[in-house]
Amino acid sequence: MDIQATLGSDIAMAFDECPPHPCGYDYAAKSLALTLRWAERCRRWTQGREHRPALFGIVQGSVFEPLRREAAEALARMDFEGYAIGGVSVGETEAEMMQAIEWSEPFLPPQKPRYAMGLGMPPQMIELVARGIDMFDCVLPTRIARNGTAFTAAGTLNLKNAPFASEKGPIEEGCDCYACTEFSRGYLRHLIKSEEILGLRLVTLHNLHFYIRLMERARCEIEAGTFENFRRRFVAGYKPHGEGE
Ligand SMILES: [Zn+2]
Repeated sequence: MDIQATLGSDIAMAFDECPPHPCGYDYAAKSLALTLRWAERCRRWTQGREHRPALFGIVQGSVFEPLRREAAEALARMDFEGYAIGGVSVGETEAEMMQAIEWSEPFLPPQKPRYAMGLGMPPQMIELVARGIDMFDCVLPTRIARNGTAFTAAGTLNLKNAPFASEKGPIEEGCDCYACTEFSRGYLRHLIKSEEILGLRLVTLHNLHFYIRLMERARCEIEAGTFENFRRRFVAGYKPHGEGE
């Protein structure tokens, strides 16, 4: 906590253990007890301090419903500035991941931000927003950009693939990022194939832009009362393996 304050973090995460997957109930229960003790110590550290980061507690509890609930309720009593759901996307199935969120979220205070740690694919994020999640962080948009893979609303494109060589259009029609307004798929493919680092930078810019725009869109749809319709259309239109793969 001292280090976080010295760094000038706006948001600090309470110390926690992310249990491995799979792990047994006994391990998960013991691990959660430790995480809750650490959360309390981190919370105590913030008391009476004027200049300090906002502190988020982290819900753990692996794939076990009673532990997820216990974690969320105990953290809610400690009254953090926000709440993260951790121990997700650690090798479990998507169904198990959604379940872990569903078991945690109802017990978190509705007026505080909720953050799903380390997620996810675009349709997963929309599904998580539908389950009450407000915040995300993920390496995916930058990591897969470095493999030459771009996100679009229809799925991912692997720009290394041969058919893109002659394509004059942008990564995604209508995208207003720098890569899409200035460069064609064919030229981006050329840059990536010739190992010119600019190619990977441009795909990275596009992917980050895509994620930011997706979240902006989700906010607008929620405000307009049309989120459910948007969610259905977006998830149905997104192919896990896009046209380029
Ligand atoms: Zn773009």
